[in-house]
Parts: sequence; structure tokens; C-alpha cells
Amino acid sequence: MKIEEITDRRVVVMGLGRFGGGIAVARWLAERGARITVTDLASREDLCDSVAQLSDLPIAFHLGGHDTSDLDHCDLLVVSPAVPKDRSDFVARAVARGIPITSEMNLFVEFCPARRVVGVTGSAGKSTTTAMVGAILTAAADKGDLPKVWIGGNIGQSLLNHLEDMKSEDIVVLELSSFQLEDLAALKWSPSHAVITNIKPNHLDRHGNLAAYVDAKMNIVRYQSSDDMVFVHQNDTDLARKVERVGASSQIIPYGWDPLFTGVLRVPGRHNVDNAAAAAAVARSLSVADEIIKKALASFTGLPHRLEFVVEHNGVRYYNDSKSTTPDSTVIALEAFDCPVVVMIGGRDKGMPFDDLTEKLADRAKAIICYGQTGRRLFDMVSKHSDGASQTARVELADGFEQAVTRAHALAEPGNVVVLSPACTSYDMFSNYEQRGDAFRQIVCELVR
Ligand code: ADP
Repeated sequence: MKIEEITDRRVVVMGLGRFGGGIAVARWLAERGARITVTDLASREDLCDSVAQLSDLPIAFHLGGHDTSDLDHCDLLVVSPAVPKDRSDFVARAVARGIPITSEMNLFVEFCPARRVVGVTGSAGKSTTTAMVGAILTAAADKGDLPKVWIGGNIGQSLLNHLEDMKSEDIVVLELSSFQLEDLAALKWSPSHAVITNIKPNHLDRHGNLAAYVDAKMNIVRYQSSDDMVFVHQNDTDLARKVERVGASSQIIPYGWDPLFTGVLRVPGRHNVDNAAAAAAVARSLSVADEIIKKALASFTGLPHRLEFVVEHNGVRYYNDSKSTTPDSTVIALEAFDCPVVVMIGGRDKGMPFDDLTEKLADRAKAIICYGQTGRRLFDMVSKHSDGASQTARVELADGFEQAVTRAHALAEPGNVVVLSPACTSYDMFSNYEQRGDAFRQIVCELVR
């Protein structure tokens, strides 16, 4: 498709959402003269903020459900990565009618003039690594060592509406989710620099099985050429093998522990050392000087809700790890601290096994506060497990979120860490993990005031 061909096209945008992708694509297409209908399962009331952001444009909204009559005069369907396409009747009908299907990310890649794109994917660490790469490359660009750097994608910023200002020599840093990569296969495109942080079972509810999930992730290297690079952790031989099996001609660049930034990182945990090592390897491949890499990583304070430092009070440090929605992430959080930890766990169950987590809790936690929909189950599992342990952690079941924070605060002593690292999604009590993390931060700040 050429950019001029967008004018007067009748486009249906399926999935407006609240996080920007749907809004950005609707705006971009409408400003280029397309005739847009936006449809979403959520109601107008739920989406009022998103709708308001498009109020200056001639866009039709069909909210609170999808009406297949919207496909009657449709030349292009733009589907949000949040829509499970193979289970959607609306999408199936569009396919049956031969309507071309695309996505916000596919449109961006199709029209992106930058030759160098750093794509970051993986089961965990995508956003942090993307932000670290972005911070280093931006520091280098500020010194005049690199051209302009653009950071976006799944990290929460669509770059579609910046396309006009982008030049071919600029560098784009994109976080790519497995859903976005699944769609990108249609373009037979992979970024020039690909980072795969790790691959663990996640989102199996959507992808069906591990093979399909791995396959989607591998699109990040599938179409790379011999000038391109893929960055893989040096200890992850299994991942390197998966990458080799794809058969792309790109170079595999291993990364790992690096004396350059040891001791300067402000973000806690070994996992962040890995993320920093990946970011440093990408920056070096773009000829960024070691001293810039070190300085940028030393001033990187992390992203909100990922082991985010909130406050220190009476010798107790409080951390918000609301982004932890899997047992694995909570294990990582517990491993990040070498002092007694009071941890809050609970939320909505994603169907993942809690066995490794209960073991790690028995091993590391001083006190465990369970809350929310999974609270009772976690409480029973953890209590049973700690019965047999040599050092028993205190386990409590809280009545609501506020009480959980209050109990964690009450149990912490000087030298301890209190961390909200729920291991479950937030949807039992909150709209999203951001809201849950904000609530934690606010309650903590009131308690220590
Ligand atoms: P993503 O964008 O892939 O969800 P984030 O950077 O937002 O990842 O980090 C989310 C959580 O994932 C962190 O709080 C941490 O628990 C875990 N995590 C981050 N980086 C890594 C890593 N390199 N290896 C394993 N787990 C990680």
C-alpha cells in the first residue's frame, strides 16, 4: 500500500483500547483521509477517555460490541493485538470476504523509513530492556554520536504519528510483543537488530501451545539478512538453538555479565544485570562508546511498577512490583533482595503453577500477605509448605488490598523490604496493573506520613 492510497479508504479499526495503539492508528489513518469506523467490545462509557482523544476527527464509533454489517463497505480491517483473531467471528467474516487485515505495528513497519530498527522481544524484560537501549542510544544521540533515536511499540508509545519526522538514518527502538510479531510475519520483515531476552511459557491461553508461542517470537529473526544481528544471552543455549533452527543468515551475538556496569546499576536484581547486558551489547554494535553506555545505565532508575522503589521509612524500603503477574516474576523479585522480605501476593489466577513460587517463598520471605481472589488458595498452599520448612515465614490472609498493605507495613522491621509482587493479574480488584501499583504507592505513602 502507498501512503496516498489511504485517502478515502474505508477502514474498520477493531479494538480501540485504553493504551494508545488503537487511538494512534485511528488518528493516523483519519488524518490521511481514510474513512474510519472504530469498533470495540467495551462500552462508550468504558472507553470515554479514548473516544475523547479522537473527538476532533470525523470518526464513526460502534462500541459495546462488533456488528458485522460494518464489514459491508470495508476496504481494510485494522485489528488490535489484544484481539484473539482465531477466535473472533468478526475477523473470520472479514477473512471470508477477502478484506485485507493489518495492525498498528504492521502499518508502522510498512511505512517506517528508518533502516536500523532495534526490536526487543522475550517473555520477560522487554520493556526494561527497550527502555535501557533507548536510554543509552539517546545519550549517544545527545552527544552527537548517533542520529535521532525513536522509542516505542508495545512499551506504550505508538510511533505512527511520528513517521513524517523520521529519517532513513534515524534509529528506532521497538518493543515487540508475541502478538505483534505474529502479525508482522505477513510483511516478511524482521528488525536489523533483534533482542530476545528469554522464552518461558506465557500467554499460552492465547497462543494455544508453546510451539506456537516460540514460533511467533522467532519472527523477530526469521527475515533477517546477513548484515543483521540477533542478541541472545550467553547462557541460554536452548534459545540460541531455537534461533539457529529458524535458519536466518543473521549473526547471533551472545551477551552476558559485563564488568563495564557491574556495581553501577540502580535497578535491583540479577535479571536487570541481564537486561543491561543486552542493552550494552546492542549499543556496542552501533559503535556507542563504553563510557556513554556506563553512564546511561548508571542513571537508569527503572520503569514504574517493575521493582520500582517507592520510599524508605524507618529503615524499611518499599518496592512496587505490580507488573509481576506471573509466579516467575515474583520469584525474580524475591531473588533481587538479600535482606528479609515482606511480600504481598494475590489477584486473579492466570492458571500458572505456583509450586516454584511457594518453594521460593518458604526459602526467602519473612512474611507473606495473601489477598484477592487467589488469596485463600495461596494462603493454604504457602501455609502447608512452610509447615515443613525449617524457618517458618509468617503467612496471613488479608481482607482486601488496603488491609494487605497495612499488614505488610506493620510486620516490617528496620532492614526489611516490603514488596508488592502479586504473581497474579490485577483484574479481580483493578482495571490494570498500573492502577494496582498506584494504589499500593498511595497507601504506603499515607502509612509512612
Ligand atoms: P515485559 O515488558 O517483558 O513484561 P518488564 O521489563 O516489564 O518485562 O519486566 C516485568 C517483570 O519481568 C519484572 O518485574 C521482572 O519480574 C521480570 N523480568 C524482567 N527482566 C527479566 C529477565 N531478564 N529475566 C527474567 N525476568 C525478568
